[in-house]
Parts: sequence; C-alpha cells; structure tokens
Amino acid sequence: MKPHAFDYVRATSLQDIFGVLDKHGDDAKILAGGQSLVPAMNMRLAAPRVIVDVNAIEALHGIAVVGDMLRIGAMTRYVEIAASDLVARHAPLIVRAVPFIAHAAIRNRGTFGGSLCNADPASELPACVLAERAVFNISSSTGERSVAANDFFLGTYTTALEPTEVLLSVDVPLSGPDSRYFFDEVARRQGDYAMAGLAARAEVRGGVLVDARLVFFAVSDMPLMVSATAALLEGQAPGSVDAEAICEALIQNVTPQQDLTTSSVTKEHLMKVLTRRAIAAFAREEA
Ligand SMILES: Cc1cc2nc3c(=O)[nH]c(=O)nc-3n(C[C@H](O)[C@H](O)[C@H](O)COP(=O)(O)OP(=O)(O)OC[C@H]3O[C@@H](n4cnc5c(N)ncnc54)[C@H](O)[C@@H]3O)c2cc1C
Repeated sequence: MKPHAFDYVRATSLQDIFGVLDKHGDDAKILAGGQSLVPAMNMRLAAPRVIVDVNAIEALHGIAVVGDMLRIGAMTRYVEIAASDLVARHAPLIVRAVPFIAHAAIRNRGTFGGSLCNADPASELPACVLAERAVFNISSSTGERSVAANDFFLGTYTTALEPTEVLLSVDVPLSGPDSRYFFDEVARRQGDYAMAGLAARAEVRGGVLVDARLVFFAVSDMPLMVSATAALLEGQAPGSVDAEAICEALIQNVTPQQDLTTSSVTKEHLMKVLTRRAIAAFAREEA
C-alpha cells in the first residue's frame, strides 16, 4: 500500500523540529530511522500530515560518558551501538540485546531513540533501559526535562512524550565491577519479535545479590518489571539461589498476556525458562 499524502520537512536544527511540532501537534511525526513509522504509514496505520526528518541534527547523535552516566543520543543507530567500545564497556546489557533486534538492514537504519519512542511492548531496548535505571532527556520549545525509564513507558506504543517534545538522549548508569547482566529471548526465528524475553541487571556486593532488576518484554502491554520476584534475590549468594522457588513466586505474581501467536500458558513457561537462565548466568559470572 501507499501512505496518505504528507508534507516532508528536513530539520537542520532543534528549533526547526520544535517549529513543526508546535505548529502541527499530533498531526506531525518525527522521522528517525523510519523502520516503524514508514511501514505504519504504508499500511495506513499512521497518517501524519507532516513528517519532520531529524537525521541531520548533530545534537541527537553520539555516544559519550557524562559524569557517571553513558549518554546515548536518540539518533544512534543499532549498528553504531553494536560497534561501540563505550557501550560494550559501560552498558553491556544494551550491546547484548542489539543482535536480537530484527535483521541487519533494519539495524543499519533503526535508532535507539526510535525504538524507545515507538514503545512496542515486544521490543528489546525498552526492557533494557528499565533494567538499567536509565534517564530520558527530553526537549521542546519550552525547555528540557528528564524522565526516569520507570515513568516513560505508559502502554502499547504510548510514552510520557508530549506531541511537542523530542527525545534528545538517554543516560544509562555506568556498569561497575560488581554489575551482573543477563539478556535473552525466545523467538520463532532469528530476527522475529520475541515470544518472551528478559533483560536483567544485579550487583554482587559482599558475595550476595543486591538491587536485582528483572524486566520481561513481549508478555504485557509494556516492559514488565517484576519487582516482587526480584526482591527475593536480594541478599542471596548468586550460586545458591533456589531457581524453582523464584519461578513459582514469579508466576504467582504475574499472568502474561497472550498475543496473536503465543498463548499466555506458553509465555508463562518461557518466562520461567528465562528466569532460570538469568539465575544461572548471575552465578556463572560470579567466578
Ligand atoms: C521487519 C521488521 C522487523 C522488526 N523487528 C524488530 C525487533 O525484533 N525488535 C525491535 O525492537 N524492533 C523491531 N523492528 C522495529 C525497528 O526496531 C524500528 O527501527 C524501531 O522500532 C524504530 O526506530 P526508528 O529509528 O526506525 O524510528 P522511526 O520508525 O523513525 O520512528 C518510530 C516512532 O518514534 C518516534 N520518534 C523517533 N525518534 C524520536 C525522537 N528522537 N523523539 C521523539 N519521537 C521520536 C517517531 O515519530 C515514530 O512515532 C522491526 C521492524 C521491521 C520493519
């Protein structure tokens, strides 16, 4: 199919973007990598009157350490993340997730910020930034604000962004020597959206797990942080966790939502499989 007619604006400054968004509000859409927006327009699931192309805005690109955070520009492409030594060193969870996203052609164009703003509940990166306690830097013509990842995702394709706002970058707390990570998903084929996936981070201090965060994706209308289950890991030695008890507690607290291809029962099974793998990985990394 072909999209509805639309106007195209190539922004060359943040002010250009704000001008379009302030004028057109909900009728305007930002074009980043176009890997979700363009298919949605072609299928007429989205019909913006104006698209504002932000690819040329330098302020949205780049990866840098800022204080005790790794700042990843919204327009950083998946392929750049995969090749970045800085991300590998300071935010390894995100690097581990990237190969699971779609296919090489999509990873060449698709962007970090585009994935987060799109807020697909089956996407990998929203779960990663939640597990990482990231902070979103957002701007509009009226100023800047920061939003914690906890408060950014509101539902399927729905975020805390106002129609007049643009995501500039995301700050991820730097990985420390005690940080442990796990990322995995189960999909029918390599590159497909996950049937269920898990991004997890914990610290090991004094020989025990602290501050564990388990975030599932493709099981709810947004990334699902299972805080009550993660709390059961607190204070346990990584090699001595009773994985079956944790899995039982998980399923008492959570009922995954079925989707077009996968039943709730299957997702529940996969969530347990992924939880066991995460616990085993935390123990392996102890050595
Ligand atoms: C065949 C196929 C398979 C895929 N498989 C996966 C997968 O397995 N996992 C996965 O996560 N994704 C998958 N995707 C989606 C892909 O990852 C997209 O690239 C991503 O969802 C959107 O990033 P983008 O840069 O292309 O954003 P765009 O498509 O350009 O934009 C997406 C949305 O975000 C908004 N937006 C973008 N940037 C900003 C910004 N800086 N500020 C405010 N709003 C902004 C846009 O207005 C639009 O609403 C797949 C896509 C295809 C076509």
